[in-house]
Amino acid sequence: MSGNRTFTMIKPDAVESGNIGNILQMISDAGFSIKAMKYTKLSEERAKAFYAVHAERPFYGELVEYMSSGPIVAAILEKNNAVEDFRALIGATDPAEAAEGTIRKKYAESKGRNAVHGSDSDENAQIEGEFHFAEDEVI
Ligand code: UDP
Ligand code: MG
Repeated sequence: MSGNRTFTMIKPDAVESGNIGNILQMISDAGFSIKAMKYTKLSEERAKAFYAVHAERPFYGELVEYMSSGPIVAAILEKNNAVEDFRALIGATDPAEAAEGTIRKKYAESKGRNAVHGSDSDENAQIEGEFHFAEDEVI
């Protein structure tokens, strides 16, 4: 059975370009509710740990540098079929390949600087949510 929560980050490029409000509006309009949210910044160490699954990939160093380069918004979202529906809302990793009307199509700069993160499974949504939020921060 598919779960009802996912985890997202509005990444440094989208914060820098002033799109926090626009992206949160799209998330709300798509029917997601917010269970936890914070404006924060990842240290290099925390960014390394969050993306450890990609440690062997050629883009890992650049990804860690980018994700720790400025503030982000981290949030736990709730909706029926949350993981799959949120991946559909954000679109493909590379904005050049993302469908019209998706968050990445609208706001991402490039495949690396791609505006938002979305968990890829219920298991990872749980792990990533716990990486950013203590139990009593989830409402
Ligand atoms: N990324 C990158 N170059 C690539 C693939 C990914 O810089 O060729 C970055 C990009 O920011 C992406 C993140 O690494 O969002 C995680 O990659 P993943 O394949 O998990 O993409 P996502 O799940 O975010 O669509
Ligand atoms: Mg991914």
